[in-house]
Amino acid sequence: MSETVLLPGTASLGVMGGGQLGRMFVHAAQALGYRSVVLDPDADSPAGLVAHQHIRADYLDEAALAELAAQCGAITTEFENVPAQALARLAERRVVAPAGAAVAICQDRADEKAHFKASGVACAPYAEITTAADLAAVSDDLLPGILKTARMGYDGKGQMRVRSRAELVAAWDELKNVRCVLEQMLPLALELSVISARNAAGEIVQFPVQQNLHIDGILALTQVPAPAVGPELAAEALASAARIAASMNYVGVLCVEFFVLQDGRLIVNEMAPRPHNSGHYTMDACDVSQFDLQVRAMAGLPLRQPRLHSPCVMLNLLGDLWFGTDGAERSPVWDQVLALPCTHLHLYGKASARPGRKMGHLNISAATAAEAAATARAAAALLG
Ligand code: ADP
Ligand code: MG
Repeated sequence: MSETVLLPGTASLGVMGGGQLGRMFVHAAQALGYRSVVLDPDADSPAGLVAHQHIRADYLDEAALAELAAQCGAITTEFENVPAQALARLAERRVVAPAGAAVAICQDRADEKAHFKASGVACAPYAEITTAADLAAVSDDLLPGILKTARMGYDGKGQMRVRSRAELVAAWDELKNVRCVLEQMLPLALELSVISARNAAGEIVQFPVQQNLHIDGILALTQVPAPAVGPELAAEALASAARIAASMNYVGVLCVEFFVLQDGRLIVNEMAPRPHNSGHYTMDACDVSQFDLQVRAMAGLPLRQPRLHSPCVMLNLLGDLWFGTDGAERSPVWDQVLALPCTHLHLYGKASARPGRKMGHLNISAATAAEAAATARAAAALLG
């Protein structure tokens, strides 16, 4: 990858994908005076609605990729399932950060785990299942476990918990016998993630460790500083994330998710080659956000160590909040929520709400962690 510098105000930056992560990337790029171009097939994509230019086409459309490359000095991605082939085409002409090879590792749970091992970071005991023979050969130690499709899973989708061999066989059938990994079910004490940004020169900066609560496989809230994480554990998570990024020669923003087990051990879960839902607090609680660093890394600008200036709680706003107990659609009481101290509302501009759909997030920053937590409880009670 070249170390070309694209100065603010002089260039266009492109993004593959038009979801909320693309939208917040576009906002950050525009704040620095870049023109922004989104490639996404959906006419109403959250990022396409706010970009300077929306190329509405399939990700593998040759003419669209040529147009994106012609328009932009550098191109990034906002989702890991962007076809690797599309990134390869773009890389023939432009800086692509992160590179297709790194994105490809993140697309496949088996490849991802192999990369964690190669980076010297412990992950859950697992087996790769491609054939019925692999399934039969699975060790009893992996049960109870979680069967996860190797590709395309997100927000707890594409995975099933299994207690016995009979349940494992049934679950693999239900997942249509696609390639999977079976992971041992681990006794979790808590979940963490680390967001790093790395540039082509190999410099790396990191946000502080954040503590995440998932409900039904979907992120519900993130807290910083992580309330249950001591300095040694935090240092280990930061160092592991940095090793994982460096050993892929990664350029861009990378999120690494970890489990902390009940015995205190740190285990890496998965990673995402882009800004992450658990890093949304950085928009209001840090002096540079994860999206600012995504822009800086791809544009070849200096990275700088971000500083957390306020304790923060990030609440995810799922579509469920748009429906009352009677099932009727309603608007959440934003006027009451915004009357609370230090609430920053981010809505993604999605036309229709559905249960489980990520509609926005609320960052609650405060002078103290206790105050942020109390305000978050008050906001959650109002949103009911
Ligand atoms: P996704 O890609 O859907 O985020 P994850 O692999 O992160 O998939 O799993 C979603 C959630 O399921 C995790 O955040 C964690 O709460 C739980 N989980 C996943 N794997 C395990 C495991 N091996 N042991 C215990 N809990 C797990
Ligand atoms: Mg996850």
